[in-house]
Amino acid sequence: MALLTFKGAIRQVTGSCYLLEANGCRVLLECGMTQGYRRDEAQNRNHFDFMPEDLDAVVISHAHLDHSGLLPKLVAEGYTGPIYMTPGTAALLELMLSDAASLQERDSDWENKWRKRAGKPLVEPLYTQADTDAALALRKPSDYGQETIVAEGISVIFHEAGHILGSAIVEIILHEAHDLTRKLVFSGDLGNSCSPFLRPPAYREEADLLLLESTYGDRDHRNLDETLAEFQEILDAAWASGGNVLIPSFAVGRTQDLLYYLGQFYQAGTLKQQAVFLDSPMAIAATEIYDRFHQDFKPSEKSLIEGQHKGDLKHWLPILKCTPTTEESIAINRIAGGAIIIAGSGMCNGGRIVHHFKHNLWRDDCHVILPGFQAKGTLGRRLVDGEKNIRVVHQSLAVKAHLHTLGGFSAHAGQSQLIEWLGHFKRSPEIYLIHGELEKSQTLAQAIKDQLGWNATIPELNEQIAF
Ligand code: ZN
Repeated sequence: MALLTFKGAIRQVTGSCYLLEANGCRVLLECGMTQGYRRDEAQNRNHFDFMPEDLDAVVISHAHLDHSGLLPKLVAEGYTGPIYMTPGTAALLELMLSDAASLQERDSDWENKWRKRAGKPLVEPLYTQADTDAALALRKPSDYGQETIVAEGISVIFHEAGHILGSAIVEIILHEAHDLTRKLVFSGDLGNSCSPFLRPPAYREEADLLLLESTYGDRDHRNLDETLAEFQEILDAAWASGGNVLIPSFAVGRTQDLLYYLGQFYQAGTLKQQAVFLDSPMAIAATEIYDRFHQDFKPSEKSLIEGQHKGDLKHWLPILKCTPTTEESIAINRIAGGAIIIAGSGMCNGGRIVHHFKHNLWRDDCHVILPGFQAKGTLGRRLVDGEKNIRVVHQSLAVKAHLHTLGGFSAHAGQSQLIEWLGHFKRSPEIYLIHGELEKSQTLAQAIKDQLGWNATIPELNEQIAF
């Protein structure tokens, strides 16, 4: 018998964490950070309610921080064992966790400035670069399709999830007495098949227990052709109105997809803008990692990019300008129109995009494209919800820019795609819906019942199940 405890991303979309106990071993599946409201993010400071040193192995589905962001803290609190992931995730993780560590250190330095003046006790960063380096040293890459023993009687196989580079569906096989096995499949984040680089999520046919993400459990995205047509229309409208286009984008995945499609418009002669700025050191570094992992790409795109353009985005989209330094970023402020500016953070909670907001959001010729999920509590969500006045970098701004959400670029599967993927199981596994806001998971559970006749449960936080 095995026990699974739901430790995070329950009735919300961040903080993925599941504890598996079987054969006398303990395996932690995901070690994600909670993101969104400040009070929610404060949870990241809580001690783990299990002993990190008692874990035998950790398994990570992909590099996004809501799945991996607390690994340095886990190591700082005593974990010294292996951390399994795909090679693509291992490469991206170095970038993501180092960036997170420098952000944590900067935040605490900032807070300690006023705390010192106010005579208040100083705060420690959530973790440091040294903690991150210690966590990165524990990475154990395992290729897609390869069965790896992670603890006694417990093995793991990663399958392509089509979400970001290196993302995986995690199949965990429990070997029991008399050659019996039990299988847990964790969907990870399932892709939306819109990526020009990644293959769609691999189908699975068997599982005793399935943890299924439900981020977009209540809706379908527009299809890719419609999304690209809409993207082109917005760019044309922005060109006609004379302003800039701002695209707050996740540095890993979404940005590379957008650059690819902007290159497609450029090659077709339909892109009117004169310059595309990639204004994010992290996205620039992630784009270089994507270039290194060409072997993971779909065959058609591999030959297109490698053949005609020698794997070089500069040939595919020659008007791309990468601006890693602060000075180069500030220089963009002088451009009043005709540019496309891609910057983080994806949910507008910080990063360079807020500086571009300061210079553009109050202008009615500016167009903002939100291509990703905007969690409750983030500035991006408030913009989507239609707030007309916001505060960024100590300034009050009237929102006069045109706002567009482009859901079709989501890196997550929509409802029909989730159900289509689920329908490939030969018989119903015991299904638990995770990684979704409650009402979205409920809608998905109903759709699964209606279309497949299968029951899906939405677990409670810290609920423990035996299987
Ligand atoms: Zn993700």
